[in-house]
Amino acid sequence: MKNNKISIHFLGAAGTVTGSKYLVDTGEKKILIDCGLFQGLKELRLKNWEYPPVDVPDIDIVLLTHGHMDHTGYLPRLIKQGFNGKIYGTSPTLEIAKIILNDSAKIQEQEAERANKQGYSKHDPAEPLYDLKDVEKTIPHFKSVPQSQWIALFDGIKARFKYVGHILGATFIELDVRGKRFVFSGDIGRINDLLLYPPLKPKRADVLFIESTYGGRFHQEETDAIPQIEAIVNETISRGGSLFVPSFSVERAQLMMFVFWKLVKENKIPKVQMIMDSPMGADVLELFQRTKDWHKLEEYEFAEMCSYFTIVSSYEETMDLRIDKSPKIVIAGSGMLTGGRMLNYLETNADNAKNTLLFIGYQAEGTRGRKLLEGEKELKVYGKWVPFNMQVAEIEGLSAHADHAELLDWINKIKIKPERIFIIHGEKEGAEALQIGIKETYGWNAEIPELYSIEEV
Ligand SMILES: [Zn+2]
Repeated sequence: MKNNKISIHFLGAAGTVTGSKYLVDTGEKKILIDCGLFQGLKELRLKNWEYPPVDVPDIDIVLLTHGHMDHTGYLPRLIKQGFNGKIYGTSPTLEIAKIILNDSAKIQEQEAERANKQGYSKHDPAEPLYDLKDVEKTIPHFKSVPQSQWIALFDGIKARFKYVGHILGATFIELDVRGKRFVFSGDIGRINDLLLYPPLKPKRADVLFIESTYGGRFHQEETDAIPQIEAIVNETISRGGSLFVPSFSVERAQLMMFVFWKLVKENKIPKVQMIMDSPMGADVLELFQRTKDWHKLEEYEFAEMCSYFTIVSSYEETMDLRIDKSPKIVIAGSGMLTGGRMLNYLETNADNAKNTLLFIGYQAEGTRGRKLLEGEKELKVYGKWVPFNMQVAEIEGLSAHADHAELLDWINKIKIKPERIFIIHGEKEGAEALQIGIKETYGWNAEIPELYSIEEV
């Protein structure tokens, strides 16, 4: 007799936010949900170099909830380790994954090269986690799926990808294995997002995996964040400074363009030079044009918004712009200052107290962003310490993630108590707050799995 148990391996984003990877082992097939890179704390980042505690060549298929790095960034490693199956996701998810993986490979190649030149790496010689060639080998495994339709994967196993806001193409995944329904929330978006529609909700879940990034925390509405941004821009420009907005290049960069465009158009902020400096952000902008079903932005709005911005892609242009001291607004990656063009701007502008650094998204533990937000007065850029005197501002309402109330709201269509609920993709505090919230709201017990733990369901 065959054991009918299904085991779940928590290979990432368990007890932490990044590195999303959950392996569902049905006894016959091994299905990996998301394949993210660990980011933030060094002890986490080092895990990207370890072989995951499963036999990678045995994995049959990968399903992606969305394109973000912490959900897709490990894919080229997986291929290097011998994965040879298909990688399923919606078409914008795969396009974003392609953009992000190429960018990530480039950054890693450049950083390894720079570290070797300047000799600041502990690895000798420093090497990238993967390079552009590895990404090139990954892309042919991509297979796009339509949203909201059941897709037969294997005998007795099917999956459905449903709109969940957050970023272009993002979905939650319903996976049916021999009649048992697994629901993976992916990252849940906002109910009132300026650019995206509200998330759809699952109606049934036997085993539920729910993210908890903002468990226990409450955001204001995105529309309420706009007057605050207006005030921050006006204060900064009136003292002769510039505003620097580290932003995820996917979605949040375009959202910030939308917000600044609206503010200028309504004469609420002065018309200073506005820069969107992110080659990846520019690629995603182009993707917005091709994915009209996935967002609310009208074509004429999109065109006008773009016309207000200097969209930078060449590195040389960045190098010129970063020494120009006239007041301006700069949107650049990366969102948590773990890399990206924003570091180039900070290298030459961080010491000036007239400038403002505005955080609009989640800052994970261990990142430069988190440290500056917590008051650190210097930052390390490419192995060199730079004094940091800028004003720091934070606006939480622009997060692409559901807050505590929105997370609880997302499961309110599930009428039958799930057999198991796993709270994932959160730091300890957020996960525990959501655990309490679920108990108080629904009377359901939820578990917080540990990294690398295995559960049978
Ligand atoms: Zn995400």
